[in-house]
Amino acid sequence: MECEICGREIKGKGFRVIVEGSEITVCARCKEYGTAKPEIVDQSSRKKLVLKKKQVRPIEFTEEMIENYHLIIKREREKRGWSQDVLAKKIQEKVSLIRKIENNEITPEPGVVEKLERLFNIKLREKVPEVKVDLRKSNLSPTLGDVVIIKKRKN
Ligand SMILES: [Zn+2]
Repeated sequence: MECEICGREIKGKGFRVIVEGSEITVCARCKEYGTAKPEIVDQSSRKKLVLKKKQVRPIEFTEEMIENYHLIIKREREKRGWSQDVLAKKIQEKVSLIRKIENNEITPEPGVVEKLERLFNIKLREKVPEVKVDLRKSNLSPTLGDVVIIKKRKN
């Protein structure tokens, strides 16, 4: 048998490789010019793996305001005997903003939320899974993140 690239006599079995889409038999020296057949099988199975990985992507968490956060802010403020004006000054925001937040007219920006959380030493946000279907699927072996959520929900 002759090498289909260099034309030399092939000793032994030769190598089946793919060169420009066609399968040929080449010698050991020329096999590097083509793509070895077994490798092609590997590549396709690797592609499948990548696809599978995408489908079972890890659960991503997004921070969302907790329920009735505006009431919690109001409660925390009143607990301390502060007027909306006092609270506004403490976090260096306008009193109109505090009023709107407490009346649930607007959702405070993350920066404002952070300031309120620090001031009152409370959490106004919770991590929620972005893909709820995935959370249910992973119930059998919850990740640390899931456990945290489950604990939080019970509170
Ligand atoms: Zn050759």
